[in-house]
Amino acid sequence: MIADLLGRPLRNLRLSVTDRCNLRCEYCMPEDEYQWLPREDLLHFEEISSLVDIFIAQGVDRLRLTGGEPLLRRDLPKLMKMLSAKAGLKDLALTTNGILLAQHIDALADAGLRRITVSLDTLRADRFKALTRSDELPRVHEGMQAAKRVFPSGFKIDTVVIKGVNDDELVDLIEYGRSMHAEVRFIEYMDVGGATKWSPDRVMSRREILARCAGHYGAVTPVDEQSSAPADRYQLPDGTVFGIISSTTQPFCSNCDRSRLTADGMWYLCLYAAKGIDLRAALRAGVGADQIASMIRGGWQARDDRGAEQRLALGDRRAFVPMTSLKKDPHLEMHTRGG
Ligand code: SAM
Repeated sequence: MIADLLGRPLRNLRLSVTDRCNLRCEYCMPEDEYQWLPREDLLHFEEISSLVDIFIAQGVDRLRLTGGEPLLRRDLPKLMKMLSAKAGLKDLALTTNGILLAQHIDALADAGLRRITVSLDTLRADRFKALTRSDELPRVHEGMQAAKRVFPSGFKIDTVVIKGVNDDELVDLIEYGRSMHAEVRFIEYMDVGGATKWSPDRVMSRREILARCAGHYGAVTPVDEQSSAPADRYQLPDGTVFGIISSTTQPFCSNCDRSRLTADGMWYLCLYAAKGIDLRAALRAGVGADQIASMIRGGWQARDDRGAEQRLALGDRRAFVPMTSLKKDPHLEMHTRGG
């Protein structure tokens, strides 16, 4: 096992397969125009596969495909098949906004997809439109139904909670999750790159989420478990379980084993990291697998990032990256880095 300077193992890799998205969520992509990664820079499936082999040899055993919106990447089931054939992977998951899910889920499951998370912040059509600048809520519901059919033992629904936007829908979303046999996870609004409209007063904290749920359902008890998963899980009196990802008010950097590979092959060791390691350049320059492996090992062994904790320690906290910097370097964007 390779450990970083804080003893955290290299284990979870999030693979962004595209920086493009078919939604414009106000907490992630609120601008009218974006600087996209040059098409020729995007890793081909064979290149992704080679890098994943090297990562697996260094200890990575959990992969999650993300983006942007991963289902916009053409022939994604083909990549899924290449990845699912790899020995040593314990988990192969996908995060999607659900719009194209009904269309692709069977091919993805046939290709080896094992777990899925669908993002959904509101059940109300007018709010969905205001929040995402899209009318596609009915297609997200179709995607959820498809996920329920294909993953009968359950899947996850991720909801970013923003005060004054959807904080009155927590109970409705838990009930919706129950009807889909899905576990809902509430994510605190994060000040990541791209969230240019973030401000502390819009964050609904874990404490407030719990109080809201307890006010409706009665006692909410923590589920006792050891895990490096970002969500802490809670149980309602009737046994329903939901999660909270409190990256903003109670970050979990101390056991973060996640890193991120962008669609153009930049490797980031923290969601808040200013710089990444350019694995595409190495791969395309013909650098051998052994040397890329040592770049990965060296990078991880020197890792001391605690981005979310450092953000929390700041007194005066506001949007992380100013718009002008995002325009200059799209790698600072959450949708490029892979949420
Ligand atoms: N398009 C896919 C999706 O919607 O799930 C994958 C990429 S998206 C960037 C991954 C997750 O990041 C989504 O659940 C999204 O809600 C979350 N996210 C984006 N910006 C966020 C922010 N400012 N705070 C918290 N979560 C955020």
